[in-house]
Amino acid sequence: MARIETPRRIRGTQDIFGDEQRRFAHVLSTFERVRALYCFQRIDIPVFESTAVFARSLGETTDVVSKEMYTFEDRGGDSLTLRPEFTAGIARAYLTEGWQQFAPLKITTSGPVFRYERPQKGRFRQFHQIDAEVIGAAEPAADVELLVLADQLLRELGIAEGVTLQLNTLGDAETRDAWRAALVAHFEAHRDELSEDSLTRLEKNPMRILDSKDPRDRPIADSAPDIDAYLTPEARAFFDAVTAGLDAAGVAWERNARLVRGLDYYRHTAFEFVTDRLGAQGTVLAGGRYDGLIGSLGGPETAGVGWAAGVERLAMLLDEPAAAAIDAVVVPMGADAEARAMGIVADLRRAGVAVEMAYKGKMKARMAKADALGARFAIILGDDELAKGVAAVKTLGAGTQAEVAFADLAEALR
Ligand code: ATP
Ligand code: MG
Repeated sequence: MARIETPRRIRGTQDIFGDEQRRFAHVLSTFERVRALYCFQRIDIPVFESTAVFARSLGETTDVVSKEMYTFEDRGGDSLTLRPEFTAGIARAYLTEGWQQFAPLKITTSGPVFRYERPQKGRFRQFHQIDAEVIGAAEPAADVELLVLADQLLRELGIAEGVTLQLNTLGDAETRDAWRAALVAHFEAHRDELSEDSLTRLEKNPMRILDSKDPRDRPIADSAPDIDAYLTPEARAFFDAVTAGLDAAGVAWERNARLVRGLDYYRHTAFEFVTDRLGAQGTVLAGGRYDGLIGSLGGPETAGVGWAAGVERLAMLLDEPAAAAIDAVVVPMGADAEARAMGIVADLRRAGVAVEMAYKGKMKARMAKADALGARFAIILGDDELAKGVAAVKTLGAGTQAEVAFADLAEALR
């Protein structure tokens, strides 16, 4: 008989189990709790969209669009792309679903996103993001609220220590154009010293040279002009309002004049929460203001600001999470007791008691299972107990035991 080859997990994907799953779930449930405190509503959007949704909004020359998208033709011949991020799809929904009427709209979502990247620690091809956005608010108060939310989330996850908020402004359109021209002039003057990648960036996306990791580019990027000299009074006032708001809310920040975001649609505020605990994958949460995005999708000019964080990177920073506690393990002995236990377990679960049934192995193995699961009680059912209509309830930590009538079990365990 031909040997059947076991299928393999696709490179860069994950099967999330056990301890890892508990960390993962803890990030999501904490996010869910904190977003409600800030009065953001949860939405869900499709995992795939027309390719144009991402190509137009993210910018054709960005790494994500040029190298990282999972794009395919479906059976109907349409070009679709698995979402590489949430913002573009949310902007599409804002336009197609008439969400303009709810502006300013404060929303969060979470789920898998897909990027064809080289897998390594903290970098996957299918990974997960949590995402928060405010659409239709041009005020710096929206930027501040999102940043304070991010800060509180990191604190409640217990990982704020060693994570810094790096903040920059990319100015308004006028500022950006003037700064861009100054950057191009500077980089042109150092053309011979730039890496090949940065020569391409110089043609297509010169701001990206600023955050190049190539050592050949660093001195030239570091000596490039800051945006500050080019800020219009309005852009300056906007940035000052954001930093004043953060100070008022007690959120620490650091200016990083080299911080530019990978995607083309950003204006004004750009930020990253960075840690040195994850090596090269140190950015845990990142975002900014994207007032140009909805216009680039053919919609009316609409202000927007938001962030996304990698769930895996946040989960990796968490302390060991405790396993979920269960209330009791039912340990039946003999065929009659096993049959009776089915009903008892069902009744207890319906009464809101978390119960496991130990049905494998001898008595000793079954009791060991109760211990291993960290249950508070073992409910032992043998022929004697069945005859009397009671269960022997053993308090596992204390080692004490008492007989409890079947009808009183749920009450006794609570
Ligand atoms: P990086 O510089 O690490 O590639 P990025 O700028 O591409 O990050 P964003 O597009 O801002 O990342 O995505 C927001 C967050 O999603 C990142 O801060 C990071 O936590 C997470 N993230 C991005 N790419 C990956 C990936 N391939 N695997 C796991 N998490 C990721
Ligand atoms: Mg990236």
